[in-house]
Amino acid sequence: NEMHPQDINHALSKTLFLVENQTLFQNISIEKKFQKNLPLIPVDIQKIKHVFMNIILNAADAMDGEGVLSISTQLGLLKDRVVIKIRDTGTGISEENLLKIFDPFFTTKDQGKGTGLGLSLAYRIVEDHGGTINAESRVGCGTTFIIELLLDPPGM
Ligand code: ADP
Ligand code: MG
Repeated sequence: NEMHPQDINHALSKTLFLVENQTLFQNISIEKKFQKNLPLIPVDIQKIKHVFMNIILNAADAMDGEGVLSISTQLGLLKDRVVIKIRDTGTGISEENLLKIFDPFFTTKDQGKGTGLGLSLAYRIVEDHGGTINAESRVGCGTTFIIELLLDPPGM
């Protein structure tokens, strides 16, 4: 594994740059609220960008190409972590499904459109970094994914 101190804002910007001109994002407005001068976080940058990409593509799917994608970063209250929030104004997730979204092969998408592996992989990657990933959602309103990455992960 390739853990190096990285600028999380930069990683998010680079991920957004890859998708923002795709037709799926044509009618999605993207709001960035990045806290400046965040400390660098030791991560495997390819894997962490993969996590961000998965969540952002899920958000676009949930909005069916129309809505608001808000991405924020901030230093945690105890200054020991960076908190990343990725919020969409999509369909939302029922309480029942919210318990399953990180399970491998759980998908609500049509055959061939979803593997149900994106979030289970994201969960494992974040866990391997000593971080956490959670989702909050309201049906009909939208969903927020919250990722916390530690400045000084134990055993790394
Ligand atoms: P896939 O995208 O292949 O279905 P994922 O593991 O990425 O697999 O997501 C699993 C399921 O979680 C999706 O099928 C969908 O039901 C739900 N989901 C994930 N992100 C969102 C979101 N932002 N809004 C609504 N539902 C979501
Ligand atoms: Mg997915």
